[in-house]
Amino acid sequence: MTSITFLGGADTVTGSRFLVRSNGNSTLIDCGMFQGGRGLRRLNWDDPFDDVGLPESVLITHAHIDHTGYLPRLVGTHRYDGPILATTATTDLLSVMLPDSGRINEEDAEYANKKGYSSHHPALPLYTEADALAALPLMQGVGYHEWLDVPVGRARFSFAGHILGSAHITLETDGHRITFSGDVGRWDIPVLRDPEPPQDADLLLIESTYGGRSHQDPSADANEMMARVFDKISGTDGVLVIPAFSIGRTQEILYRIRELEESGRIPSIPVYLDSPLAIDATEMYARHHEEHDLEMKALEQSGSSPLRPRQLHFTHSVEESKKLNSLRGPMVIISASGMATAGRVPHHLKRRLPYPENVVAFVGYQAEGTPGRKLLDGADRIRIHGDDIQVRAGVTRLEAYSAHADEDELVRWVAEAKPKQVVLIHGEDEGRNALAKRFREEFGLEAHLPKRGDVLQV
Ligand SMILES: [Zn+2]
Repeated sequence: MTSITFLGGADTVTGSRFLVRSNGNSTLIDCGMFQGGRGLRRLNWDDPFDDVGLPESVLITHAHIDHTGYLPRLVGTHRYDGPILATTATTDLLSVMLPDSGRINEEDAEYANKKGYSSHHPALPLYTEADALAALPLMQGVGYHEWLDVPVGRARFSFAGHILGSAHITLETDGHRITFSGDVGRWDIPVLRDPEPPQDADLLLIESTYGGRSHQDPSADANEMMARVFDKISGTDGVLVIPAFSIGRTQEILYRIRELEESGRIPSIPVYLDSPLAIDATEMYARHHEEHDLEMKALEQSGSSPLRPRQLHFTHSVEESKKLNSLRGPMVIISASGMATAGRVPHHLKRRLPYPENVVAFVGYQAEGTPGRKLLDGADRIRIHGDDIQVRAGVTRLEAYSAHADEDELVRWVAEAKPKQVVLIHGEDEGRNALAKRFREEFGLEAHLPKRGDVLQV
């Protein structure tokens, strides 16, 4: 008897947690935090293991916080002390990301208390940096393509091409072969290798973030799109603020800016990478050669630094970050978080949004209820840290920059897999319905669309 309990990340794009139980054993795939609007964030305070008990082991598809951000609470609050398996690059990333997430939780609670804008008195962090540090010794780095023993059977990690270290995880349990897509990356994107197809999965659980959507913009490729936002600020004193996920998009952006500078399409202007996490991650991207695509390998072998635009500056401390407030453009600030929900980006938005010479360019998916989504939907005022901010800056989206496969790419991935059964996870209803329709029409597959709390008997 095998079952999958959807503890999160089913009908939402955050909070990924799937509990596989088989003949009395259990393994948790991903241990994500809910992110986005207040209603979603509140779910982080529920006990997901209340009814089902703690898992015996945890497997992690990739380092993003919506797939890993609950780990410190699993260890700190629930007292989980079993193994946490992830690829070597993922464990490297998590060694900085989880403590960073702990610090952000602590700082946000502190800031909310200082400003008195939280509905909770006092506001508490979901977990602390100390909780995150306590989770790290449980992590075991594993290689791709080898079968590993886990309590429910065996597991194997394959390249997902989404961010450094990202994997699809295939589980063999009780005669079933089940593949969890994690987040599916994209083909022909600089730096990382392409996604590998899932092999011989009976049951495929596939993310559907971009169901019903296409990244293809016939008028522009990713480089040209970036060049055009540069055009808006070069020669002015405007500032281009790019809220970007520290892991993945930031490195792609650096790669493309460097490429555009080298080709002479854009002038070289100062680029501030204002995120300690992004700085660490950029160094890890350069170091993990096993994950690089051929072009990246060739550039490195020729002695160039593919992730370094000419005037790249790293902003480590909060003091250095604050100093950016007094600088005039043209310049670029790349900072986290990607949906402007936390980190240093909200401070830059507060400073730059009220002025029309500035441009804010979002990359990647903006979940419902986030400042990113509100700005892209055309809000002319926005609340940041309890203050009402007027929006006069240009706001745009770099649609071609996504770490997620779009609908056609997801269909391509599934076409290679030929699963007997498909479950659509990690998507809002609109995206899941669109993708379910494609699977029905093209493969005759009736997709299952679970909700949080559902149990699927395999
Ligand atoms: Zn992801």
